[in-house]
Formats: sequence, structure tokens, C-alpha cells
Amino acid sequence: MFDPAAFRLTAQEAALTADAREFGQAVLAPRAARWDREASFPTDNYRDMHANGLLGICIPDAEGGRGAGFRTYCLTAAEMGRYCGATALTWNMHVCSTLWTGALTEDLDLPADIRAEHRRRRRLHYDRILRDGAIYAQPFSEGGAAAAGGVAFGTTAKRVPGGYLISGRKIFASLSGHADFYGVLCTELRDGEAKPSRRDTLYLAIPRDAEGVAVEGGWDPLGMRGTVSRNLVFRDVFVGEDAALMPPGLYFQAATRWPHMFMTLSPAYMGIAQAAYDFTVKYLRGEWPGTPPVKRRMYPTKQVAVAEMRVMLEQTKALWFQAVTEAGPDPSKDQLLRAWAAQHTVMENAAALAAKAVRTCGGQAMLKSLPLERLYRDARCGSLMLPWTAELCIDRIGRAALYEAGETDE
Ligand SMILES: Cc1cc2nc3c(=O)[nH]c(=O)nc-3n(C[C@H](O)[C@H](O)[C@H](O)COP(=O)(O)OP(=O)(O)OC[C@H]3O[C@@H](n4cnc5c(N)ncnc54)[C@H](O)[C@@H]3O)c2cc1C
Repeated sequence: MFDPAAFRLTAQEAALTADAREFGQAVLAPRAARWDREASFPTDNYRDMHANGLLGICIPDAEGGRGAGFRTYCLTAAEMGRYCGATALTWNMHVCSTLWTGALTEDLDLPADIRAEHRRRRRLHYDRILRDGAIYAQPFSEGGAAAAGGVAFGTTAKRVPGGYLISGRKIFASLSGHADFYGVLCTELRDGEAKPSRRDTLYLAIPRDAEGVAVEGGWDPLGMRGTVSRNLVFRDVFVGEDAALMPPGLYFQAATRWPHMFMTLSPAYMGIAQAAYDFTVKYLRGEWPGTPPVKRRMYPTKQVAVAEMRVMLEQTKALWFQAVTEAGPDPSKDQLLRAWAAQHTVMENAAALAAKAVRTCGGQAMLKSLPLERLYRDARCGSLMLPWTAELCIDRIGRAALYEAGETDE
């Protein structure tokens, strides 16, 4: 998707994206229709991703992983999304448990003793991933303003001897019933504190079979059906101190100082945007496997449509590449505005490109025997992903563009 020479990728980026492309074509693409049809979790893909070292892509080299940083991961995940959106999106939930605890924490402030303890704890999680193929989910959403970053999470953790007791409910928990650990964001309850605070957010790994964990509700959505994003309920679930994926206060610091961390939902949709374009070109050339070799490329309307799709795709890729390139701690205001603009652009344009591909390729192209109609349904989900939904990006850009920090109209 991003030519190594043209985009000046590092050697590691060139190698990992090439691996992901090969893996996507050989393994993900042939299976994608099944997860979609059954709304079932791509367990076979995860087994193969473990064998390929992809589960540990963001675990630091020194700790046995492939040592990918933020941009390298995003570029690799976009290649995965090109071949199976649901696998790429759920892989993001898993990878965040290693990216946020790994490369990202190195950019944040921590006293030396707490950093040392954090490194000891994350090793336990990393070892499970690398050795056993453990998969981590990322259930944040609760149906209120918490996942949008507005208020403290309603799921709570109470300190008890040796660990925490967690209670609450999460909605749309991708990988529910299939992940080995749920990386839950919750608010630590403190004695004497009048109101729960976002500063007290904890990020805790809860084993799937811990007492008090239940998966509830059905799953029959429009798109991204292989994510199996059901509801999770925690009733006084006990976890030990070592369940902490981040030390207290670090998630809040990350969310405020390293905001590009919320862009990791976009690569899956960047890949879908590319896939919609790729399909259209092949189909109009009469080259899509399994379809009659009927060419449609000679009609001027098709040429105009493809040209417009190409323009939109180039705009999307260029802005997204710039935003993931400048991700880092303490971004400038312009960089943050660009990150929101990029997130909005990818999510909205993926859906627009897929819709245009359906219109341009025509009736036979939207049969379920071809991937386009799945791309169309999967693409529609991108704008809904909190905390940076397409709507919230627009809200934030508008406000930040017109007000400096602390400014009011009083
Ligand atoms: C395929 C798929 C997979 C998903 N996987 C996961 C996952 O693994 N983990 C996870 O945590 N979530 C996941 N989600 C959930 C997703 O991130 C959103 O939380 C979910 O779509 C919100 O649905 P809603 O109907 O509650 O949204 P909305 O009602 O649109 O918004 C949710 C809440 O955010 C607040 N809000 C909305 N707009 C604003 C605004 N302008 N300003 C301030 N607050 C606002 C409101 O309080 C609102 O109730 C997934 C969603 C999909 C579609």
C-alpha cells in the first residue's frame, strides 16, 4: 500500500508490511468470507498469527517481540485490513495491550522504581503472548460518555488485600468469549473521594475464566462481524496486583500526552479503503478471479469514477501517513488537529470509497460470492469507533481551531 521507496519506509517497515501483505493474501483473504457469514471469531487466523510472530509485533525486541513502534504497527495493520477487516480490527485491540505498555510508556514520565516494577509486570503479559499465544481484548466502551473521554469509567476497581475487585459492564467488547485476557479500563475507587476521577483510571488484565466474568448478549451486526463484540459483565471479579498493565495514573498521562494512541483503530479501515479501490480496478479490467473476463473499463463513466476514487484514496493515504508519522508525546496543536482530521478522513472515506465501488462496479459485483459487499458493510463501522468517532473528531477540530486552551467567551 505504501511503497517503501516512495514513502521512505524504514527497513523494518518494508519487511513487516511485505510479510503482512503475503500473509494477508495467502491466509486472511481466503477465510474472510467465513467469519463474516458466521459472525464468528477468526480463531484460525490468530493461531497462524502467533506462529508468524504477529501477536508480539509491538513487544520490544529485547523482550522477544518484533519491536514495532507506532507507525510501523499502523502500516502493517493497514496491510492486514486490506485482506480481512475484522482480523485487523481485533488485532488492534490485542496489539494495544503491548504498544501502550511498551513503546508508548517509554515516552512518559515515571519514577525509576515504578518503571522497573512496570517492566517486570509487563513481562508476565508478554511471555503469555509470545509463549502461549495469549490474546488480549480491549473492552472500554460502556454506552455512556466515558469511552469518549468525557467522564470517568463506570466500571470500578476497589483495592483489597493482594489486588482489586472489579465490577461493571462493558459493551461492544470485541473478542469477547475468545480473548484469553480482557484489558479493562476502570476507575479506582478511593475512600473519601466525592467523585470518581479520570486520573484514577486503571488498565487491568482480567483472565477470561476469572470468577464473576460473564459474556452476554447476541452478535448479529451490519459489518465487522468477525469481531464478535458482545457485552461483558464483571461482578466482584478479583485480580492480583500483577494484573496491572499500567501503573496507576499512567493511562491518564498517556491519553493526555500521547493522544495519537487513539488512532490505532484507523489502519484496519485504511486497508479497507485500499481494498475497495483495488477491487474496482481489477473488476473493471475483467480480471477478478472467478468472474467472467468481461471488461468494463472502456466506458468513460467508469474511468471518471475510478479517477475520483484514486484522488480520494491518495488524499486519504497522504494525510494518514503524515499523521501516523508525527505521532509522539506532547504533539503540537497543529499535529493534534491533523490527527483528528486524518482519523475522520480515513473512517469517512473508507465508507465513501466502498459505496462508490459498489455503484461503479455494478449489480454483479455486490453478490456475496465477492468481497466488495463485505468491504462496504465493514467500512461503514469505522466512523462509530470511540473515542475518536467521525463526529467527535469534527467537534474537537472545530473547538480547538477556534479556541486556545482555557479561552472562553465569558
Ligand atoms: C465493530 C465494532 C467493534 C467494536 N469494538 C470495541 C472494542 O473492542 N472495545 C470497545 O471498547 N468498544 C468497541 N466498539 C464500540 C465503539 O467504540 C463505540 O463505543 C460504540 O460504537 C458506541 O456506540 P453507542 O451507540 O453507545 O454510540 P453513541 O451513542 O454515538 O456514543 C456513545 C456515547 O459517547 C458519548 N458521546 C457521543 N457523542 C458525543 C459528543 N459529541 N460529545 C461528548 N460525548 C459524546 C455519549 O455519552 C454517548 O452515549 C466497537 C464498535 C464496533 C461497531
